[in-house]
Amino acid sequence: MFEALTDSFKSAINKVRFADDEKSLQKALDTLKKSLLKADVHHKVVKDLVKTIEIETKQGGIGKDSFLKSMKDNLTDILTAPGNQGFVYASKPPTIALMCGLQGSGKTTTTVKLAHYLKRKQKKVLVAACDLQRLAAVEQLKQLCTQNEIDLFFDDNEKNPIKIANSALKRAKDGLYDVLLIDTAGRLAIDEELMEELVEISKTLTPDEVFYVADSLTGQDAVRSASTFNTLMDITGVILTKYDGDSKGGVALGIAKQLSIALRFIGTGEKVADLEPFLPERIVSRLMGEGDLITLAEKTADVIDEKQAKKLTSKIKKGQFNFNDFLDQIESMKKLGNLKSLVGMIPGMSGMAGKLKDMDLDNNSEVASIKAMISSMTKKEREKPELLNNARKKRIAGGAGLSQLEVNRFLKQFKNAAKMAKKFSGKNGMKDLQNLMSQQDRMQIPR
Ligand code: GDP
Ligand code: MG
Repeated sequence: MFEALTDSFKSAINKVRFADDEKSLQKALDTLKKSLLKADVHHKVVKDLVKTIEIETKQGGIGKDSFLKSMKDNLTDILTAPGNQGFVYASKPPTIALMCGLQGSGKTTTTVKLAHYLKRKQKKVLVAACDLQRLAAVEQLKQLCTQNEIDLFFDDNEKNPIKIANSALKRAKDGLYDVLLIDTAGRLAIDEELMEELVEISKTLTPDEVFYVADSLTGQDAVRSASTFNTLMDITGVILTKYDGDSKGGVALGIAKQLSIALRFIGTGEKVADLEPFLPERIVSRLMGEGDLITLAEKTADVIDEKQAKKLTSKIKKGQFNFNDFLDQIESMKKLGNLKSLVGMIPGMSGMAGKLKDMDLDNNSEVASIKAMISSMTKKEREKPELLNNARKKRIAGGAGLSQLEVNRFLKQFKNAAKMAKKFSGKNGMKDLQNLMSQQDRMQIPR
């Protein structure tokens, strides 16, 4: 997803790894700037970001540590906008979310993905078919909802989307639904009639969330159209789709800062499970090539059983996530679809992601090295990563046929990812992995 950026970030950091002079810092900043611009991050956002990092790094003393810290802080900062993160439930159900955007941006697909995502958190979700512009639109939704066992409200005899929205709301209330998602019509470009229809639906329903769904492949156009929509309809969040394609990724990095609206989810494929909450700190961890174990664990929760998932969460919470769990995660991943989008979440493998066409975990040298490394550990070492001192690392490197440098790099990233995962799971009252996720969803930043 952000592989190219991760690679150039590493190369920027390397410029100040062993040098503390201003010239090296300028080189590092230059690399950073070029890579962000190339990824299609807005130039103003890039300029401000690079400037702040320069000032902070100088204040902290030029070198890898202060550069890295400043980079992380400021990346997190630009990814964070006022408002909610993830999916936030209204205090009184049903939570109403209105999906809007241009035609073909992925509204319908994303509505279904979101319904699926919320259903996995044990929420009762109703989808309303309010796109009456395209003949096949309701049919598309009917099929998707049937396939995924999602409740759909539609009315083939009604031509007025506002009336349908109203009836859907009544159904949602009567049926004690937790969430009502409204799929609406899009156009090829923003036109008055479309906006009027949307504004009318919005006035009638007073939605808790208005999600603007934008195609990430359109780059800065996505930001511009979102901005136009926002003048007419208070958008509360953006969802960027098609991140699995050849999206340069940059639009996701700039959009929160540019619009002052949080990016809430990203779509990473055509399948219903291909939706991820966009949580700044996790994304930064992935951008920095440090992996994102917690999102990985959530994703694999789809294919591992609940008992196992609970055990895993409890281990992450206690900071006991070990190499055996890690191997289990890799095994679980094999059962998942779009592996490419998951690769960057594995500590030590971010560098690989960009080079992969189709990821084959059975025939992959990086996975093979990691497995060889873990196989060269004793039973105790696998259970207690903290046992690995230099002598042990040396033995493991020898056993796995790898250099000590490679072993160190993997272990360091593993440690960081485990620490990060622990931090994210550090809330009381969480019963299992799914609870853990809704905790994240409720994180709210005051406006
Ligand atoms: P709408 O007109 O806004 O409702 O758009 P649709 O939901 O019908 O999506 C348009 C096309 O984009 C469909 O072929 C979807 O399968 C595809 N699509 C939507 N989201 C994604 C995504 O995240 N990744 C990929 N690869 N395709 C997507
Ligand atoms: Mg549609």
